[in-house]
Amino acid sequence: EEEKSLNFIEEIIESDLESGKYKQIVTRFPPEPNGYLHIGHASSICLNFGLTAKYPGYTNLRFDDTNPVTEDTEYVESIKGDIRWLGFTWKNELYASDYFGQLFEFAELLIRKDLAYVDDSTSEAIAELKGTPTHPGVNSPFRSRSIDENLDLFRRMKAGEFPDGSKTLRAKIDMAHPNMLMRDPILYRIKHAHHHRTGNEWCIYPMYDFAHGQSDSIEHITHSLCTLEFVPHRELYDWLIEMLGIYPSHQYEFARRNLSYTVTSKRKLLQLVTEKHVTGWDDPRMPTISAMRRRGYTPESIRNYCDRIGIAKRDNLDDVSLLEFCVREHLNKIALRRMVVFDPLKVIITNYPEGKVEHMSSEENPEAAEGAVRDVPFSRELYIEREDFLEQPPKKFFRLAPGQMVRLKSAYIIRCDEVVKDPSGKITALHCSYIPESRSGSDTSGINVKGTLHWVSVPHAVSAEVRLYDRLFRVEDPGNEEGDFKDFINPDSLETISHAYAEPALLQSKFDERYQFLRKGYFVLDKDSSEENLVFNRTVTLKDAWAK
Ligand code: ATP
Ligand code: MG
Ligand code: MG
Repeated sequence: EEEKSLNFIEEIIESDLESGKYKQIVTRFPPEPNGYLHIGHASSICLNFGLTAKYPGYTNLRFDDTNPVTEDTEYVESIKGDIRWLGFTWKNELYASDYFGQLFEFAELLIRKDLAYVDDSTSEAIAELKGTPTHPGVNSPFRSRSIDENLDLFRRMKAGEFPDGSKTLRAKIDMAHPNMLMRDPILYRIKHAHHHRTGNEWCIYPMYDFAHGQSDSIEHITHSLCTLEFVPHRELYDWLIEMLGIYPSHQYEFARRNLSYTVTSKRKLLQLVTEKHVTGWDDPRMPTISAMRRRGYTPESIRNYCDRIGIAKRDNLDDVSLLEFCVREHLNKIALRRMVVFDPLKVIITNYPEGKVEHMSSEENPEAAEGAVRDVPFSRELYIEREDFLEQPPKKFFRLAPGQMVRLKSAYIIRCDEVVKDPSGKITALHCSYIPESRSGSDTSGINVKGTLHWVSVPHAVSAEVRLYDRLFRVEDPGNEEGDFKDFINPDSLETISHAYAEPALLQSKFDERYQFLRKGYFVLDKDSSEENLVFNRTVTLKDAWAK
């Protein structure tokens, strides 16, 4: 195998391990449980867990649940399921909310060091006094409160004596600092809200900047990896750790991964769900992990994709074609071959005995070493795909046409003798004859045909619903278009075929199996499926329909 060069985070880690700075590394994946994980999160998961698979150490799963209003246990469960499904195992399952007591003590420590104060200013007043990047801010009139007064007020904030928004706790740093985030950032706010884990125990909640780095430190995270928008936060991250004198975790930033023809923002995905543009977070058109799973993507293909795109220092839009390529590449290896006719045209083989059934054997997967086969029943009446017949074919049409021959996959060569039409002129059936010596595997006919068609025996056919998906958006980067991203939704992203005709082997379909419907693409059983009504999702087409 080709040796891959190290990415910049691996370089940092290798040098940290070589210098003896660390014996092992500890990373964490820190989702906020306010939505389902998407493909961007998958890349962060692969990065964090991938590093501790490669180097000694482990990865924690930490729910960044410091915002009581938007968070929910449903999301916690889905996130755990998604990470497991991707194939990763965390060392500890942790919650930032478990540190609320410790964080409160950290805050008191800052107050005692005269590094934090309670501010009675409104959020508008705080914003107004912040200054601009080129102009220094102005000190709050509450900045010079005594340590004792601050301690007293902060405890009373915690005790619930004050209404929402009436007070905040701020770090006392420098209102003229060139980094706006260092201009006395807010550390705590009052919010009388129910939290999905701590209930009504707390009415003050730490801000991201006062929770994240401290949680990293409490867990002795060595390399805290986050996305680029946190670069300006690093200074505050380091300042708080230094002032508190706690374990020095370090923050490193990498670029967000975005995917073309979709959006990767939980806020926007939530809108698609609540406004019913999709059927749910796991609608197979969504870029969430649960949707990709339902659509038939494999964990292997998603991991392979994340590996290929790697990590970057600049934000970019990754081509969904590469993701689909990875999915195809894996499914080609594992998918069981099946025949399904979407739009049937009946073929009657006039020289084949009525009532006779032959069991043709067809390979489960030509890529697989074992060469397993399945039985496919063949009889006098078959369905082929309507588009596989043309009454007036152009040159090089190697499918069926009057007088023309094709092979039926794993069965016989047939010739079209007669076209049957109803009074309106619609073709209702084809009368064909088969060449008895042409049976696949023992063909002595000496006839060479260029086309091979998929087919299903009429009396054995099983009805199935098939869902075909296209891109959810019409433009490459809907999140960066002017106006509402939802104006760019593709109205034709779902096509449902209610009555496809499937070979009977599909009656035994399993949710964890993948199928290639010959000439149609890769498919998987959908959760809406029942014994009475089989439902399949097309995971991906056989070829990239968008490639030029
Ligand atoms: P969103 O904007 O979708 O809400 P987020 O960053 O707020 O994303 P978190 O739940 O905080 O979502 O993310 C958990 C982890 O996943 C963070 O470390 C974050 O950096 C990472 N992450 C989120 N989105 C992406 C992305 N598009 N590409 C790479 N990493 C991401
Ligand atoms: Mg976040
Ligand atoms: Mg977010």
